[in-house]
Amino acid sequence: MPITPTSPNDAIVIGGSYAGLSAALQLARARRRVLVIDAGVRRNRFARASHGFLGHDGRAPGLIAAEGRSQLLAYPNVRWLDATVSQAGADDEGFRVTTADGNSVRARKLVIATGVVDELPTIEGVTERWGRSVFHCPYCHGYELDQGRIGVLATSALAMHHALMLPDWGQTTLFLNDAFTPDDGQRAALAARGVTVQTGAVARLVDMATVELRDGRRVVMDGLFTVSRTHLASPVAAQLGCALEEGPTGSFIRTDAMQATSVPGVFACGDAARAAGNVAISVGAGALAGAMAHRSLMFD
Ligand SMILES: Cc1cc2nc3c(=O)[nH]c(=O)nc-3n(C[C@H](O)[C@H](O)[C@H](O)COP(=O)(O)OP(=O)(O)OC[C@H]3O[C@@H](n4cnc5c(N)ncnc54)[C@H](O)[C@@H]3O)c2cc1C
Repeated sequence: MPITPTSPNDAIVIGGSYAGLSAALQLARARRRVLVIDAGVRRNRFARASHGFLGHDGRAPGLIAAEGRSQLLAYPNVRWLDATVSQAGADDEGFRVTTADGNSVRARKLVIATGVVDELPTIEGVTERWGRSVFHCPYCHGYELDQGRIGVLATSALAMHHALMLPDWGQTTLFLNDAFTPDDGQRAALAARGVTVQTGAVARLVDMATVELRDGRRVVMDGLFTVSRTHLASPVAAQLGCALEEGPTGSFIRTDAMQATSVPGVFACGDAARAAGNVAISVGAGALAGAMAHRSLMFD
């Protein structure tokens, strides 16, 4: 179906991964005309398998999203646009959304499900191991390390959180990496959890997850965890004037318990709208955002 400026969309969902697909499915099943615009760059595209999402545990992340998309597109009232939204704003009848390749589309309601981007530590060897042997989420990838040697690569004092959690998944070593110095209380807490502490800056990662320190020491690990900073993948929330909140690792879109943003008619879900997320939480929040966008179409 051609995309034209006058297409009478009830809702546009920006971002067509787990959260956006789930939101669009509710709107589709309410027989509303919904357009999904997606740039196709999921946050977990680096991982071979996704864990912890009921019914899909251990499946490839791309397959889960592809199956969701295929089920969604079976509804004749859904349209899909592979594109990046570059601009969004309010107009007299709702909202106008413009894509980087020049499409301009309108809708009465918007759902933002654009996710976040991870900012990885600038240490040699991290980027190519991201999602393979370097991770941020113990629940997603900790079990597969098989109670082996787990490193925590500090980039700030937030590493304490990881270091205190990860002994439940394996023998844990905290690499301070000159990023912070634990105080006496923190050292006692680490010792109580059996965590080994390695001082000194990390030079690079080699092999599976072996840590080479700048002073030449090598410490063999089976996997590493690090707390990545994140930023919103898209500026559309800011363009629309949605209030943001600052979380421990970066900003996210403020929503109420019904996934409504501070801008009437705009809903948000998934990683873009919470301090930390996963696939299951994104799908749940997306379902709520879709249903609430539908409620808003009926009653606001
Ligand atoms: C390495 C790694 C491994 C992970 N493993 C797991 C795991 O095993 N289990 C688990 O539950 N979670 C895992 N996660 C977390 C999971 O990836 C996220 O919680 C989940 O992807 C969030 O879904 P989402 O729909 O909110 O955002 P995303 O999946 O990030 O999707 C956002 C979508 O919006 C699109 N988009 C962004 N901006 C625009 C724009 N301007 N216009 C149009 N489209 C746009 C993107 O291209 C993308 O398709 C992992 C994360 C990482 C980094």
